[in-house]
Amino acid sequence: MATLQLKQIAKRFDDTEVLKGIDLVVNDREFVVFVGPSGCGKSTLLRIIAGLESASSGDLLVDGQRINDVGPADRGLAMVFQSYALYPHMTVEDNMGFSLRLAKVPKGERRAKVREAARILQLEPLLDRKPKALSGGQRQRVAIGRAIVRNPSIFLFDEPLSNLDAALRVQMRIELARLHEELDATMIYVTHDQIEAMTMADKIVVLQAGVVEQIGSPMELYHHPCNRFVAGFIGSPK
Ligand code: ADP
Ligand code: MG
Repeated sequence: MATLQLKQIAKRFDDTEVLKGIDLVVNDREFVVFVGPSGCGKSTLLRIIAGLESASSGDLLVDGQRINDVGPADRGLAMVFQSYALYPHMTVEDNMGFSLRLAKVPKGERRAKVREAARILQLEPLLDRKPKALSGGQRQRVAIGRAIVRNPSIFLFDEPLSNLDAALRVQMRIELARLHEELDATMIYVTHDQIEAMTMADKIVVLQAGVVEQIGSPMELYHHPCNRFVAGFIGSPK
């Protein structure tokens, strides 16, 4: 179980404050989507949660424990990026098991975890292939598989589907929803795509210029936007 709490998280780069006191609770097993225009601070916030960037001020808590000073590898989180960054010379199986190898997980256990992730992602027939012999959607599934094998309590996705074509994006949204069910995991998903936010989220966090404009379910935001920005952003198609 993992509940994540953000208290007044702020971030400045030089003189620019890109996050201005973010308060947020992500409950266990929730699918939370951060949505907002390009440059509003979504990736920075996700990187702070992942521990890849430190907050300038504010606290991060997992199950009530402050994790600001816990290293990224020890936070029980796994991040999936937009660029899959698979190792081209390694097979799918080795790509998926790489972090376990670094963590010195024994070969048999590694293999079992990779096989299980491959089953969940329907990648079993492709385990011996190299990334160049995969489609874009298959590569993205391998990148998700690398996260699954680590058995994280919280998954962080940064625009994982934005390199895929429209049809594949629709299919991957369905797969991610299924994954959320099957893994019983907490997921935080960043996108600038309103449709993704509306169709995937239990809870949407609308960001603009480093500020949370509104937090609510898709229906709450749609029917009761708190201001014109949210109304325009959620209401208007891309
Ligand atoms: P989003 O993911 O919502 O598009 P980002 O979190 O990537 O937005 O960026 C938010 C703001 O912070 C942008 O203005 C961006 O230029 C700035 N920014 C992000 N990373 C850095 C950095 N390492 N150094 C300086 N400015 C940065
Ligand atoms: Mg971003």
